[in-house]
Amino acid sequence: MEQWGLTSWRDKTALQQPVYPNAEHLAQVENTLGKMPPLVFAGEARQLKKALAQVANRQSFLLQGGDCAESFAEFHANNIRDTFKVMLQMAVVLTYAGKCPVVKVGRMAGQFAKPRSAGTEVINGVELPSYRGDIINGIDFTEQARIPDPERLVQVYNQSASTMNLLRAFSQGGFADLHQVHQWNLDFLSASPAGGRYQGVADKIDDALQFMEACGVGAGLSQLKETDFYTSHEALLLPYEQALTRKDSLTGEWYDCSAHMLWIGDRTRQLDGAHVEFLRGVQNPIGVKAGPSMDPEDLLKLCDVLNPDNEAGRLNIIVRMGADKVEDGMPKLIQAIQREGKNVVWSSDPMHGNTVKASTGYKTRRVDDVLKEVQQFFQVHHAEGSYAGGVHFEMTGQNVTECVGGAFKVTEADLADRYHTHCDPRLNADQSLELAFMISETLKK
Ligand code: PEP
Ligand code: MN
Repeated sequence: MEQWGLTSWRDKTALQQPVYPNAEHLAQVENTLGKMPPLVFAGEARQLKKALAQVANRQSFLLQGGDCAESFAEFHANNIRDTFKVMLQMAVVLTYAGKCPVVKVGRMAGQFAKPRSAGTEVINGVELPSYRGDIINGIDFTEQARIPDPERLVQVYNQSASTMNLLRAFSQGGFADLHQVHQWNLDFLSASPAGGRYQGVADKIDDALQFMEACGVGAGLSQLKETDFYTSHEALLLPYEQALTRKDSLTGEWYDCSAHMLWIGDRTRQLDGAHVEFLRGVQNPIGVKAGPSMDPEDLLKLCDVLNPDNEAGRLNIIVRMGADKVEDGMPKLIQAIQREGKNVVWSSDPMHGNTVKASTGYKTRRVDDVLKEVQQFFQVHHAEGSYAGGVHFEMTGQNVTECVGGAFKVTEADLADRYHTHCDPRLNADQSLELAFMISETLKK
């Protein structure tokens, strides 16, 4: 295999990249970003890799979630706080009811670039380039908004830095203290069964903490007072990723310091493509999406290229086949990985194979399909003697109406009420919590 370099991806085919009207302008922005401080540190990425190695070794569970696409318009401390709260709630449910430690990874602080199935979009006979995420162009359906603008990379960097700062404060500064477990419940959840069930878990945790403290243990334990929270996004827009990649002064290795973990999307995982080339050379934990078209031999080759040392915690296969396809599609992948003794973390993205168009025109997902895909994922792993290591969701702490179903019974007619996503439909807080309870039941078995 040819030698990897920071720019070796530029000699390969990079799918899903925008064409900037002014290449010189992009180069200036890349130069600017290249001088900015890293958003995460190499040591943190190594720490996440260790945590994921525990998942690969069946001792822990991966919870990855957040927006499909972060946006400039929805950027607000309250939105970050509420997504963080729901992630904490889900993690508590999984840890308490499932008796399993949870590795928390947000699709946050950098999840801005979107791959699209079609290069253009037609509305009322007008055809314009597709929206590709706020890091590339604007969502408004005008010619001007859809022109890729390099300045957006700088705005993404700044927004990510500020999001990261808040997440660090939340996770280390007292907000994530287990003694606050009741405060994480969002107001609108008090009316839902999942919210009520959560209160029950929180009461029991409170009790346990008080008991431990009465016995003289626990009061000062940092494990109870703070949490590790990591960030991730799809490494799609390669000029941005390259600009934030740094050589670690401690080990001399390269790390993509735009996030702790990066993944390769289902549309850009070609073995000879630029995305695989770029990510093989950075030492962060890496994910690869596996849709219905993933071939077992290609998956093995991806393991060889992306994880040549077969390091546990380096590679996460994120299966996103659709509720009806997992049962048929996944066993052959698991068998190939087992036969070759590859170390991977398996997780389930039950969102991207279950997107449908509602009669009202909205892109949506049925909570029942999401639940079903996760259940099938667990069943198949169980049957194959493999470990179902985690889940990957598009979710938000807001009370949106983007996915149909759940305890609040969001209907297709309700979708118009609070449909705020910039790309794919997300689970709302209630639907996310319901899912966490279902998974905790499965983990207990
Ligand atoms: C995504 O995670 O938002 C996404 C586009 O996923 P996939 O590559 O699996 O379609
Ligand atoms: Mn998506």
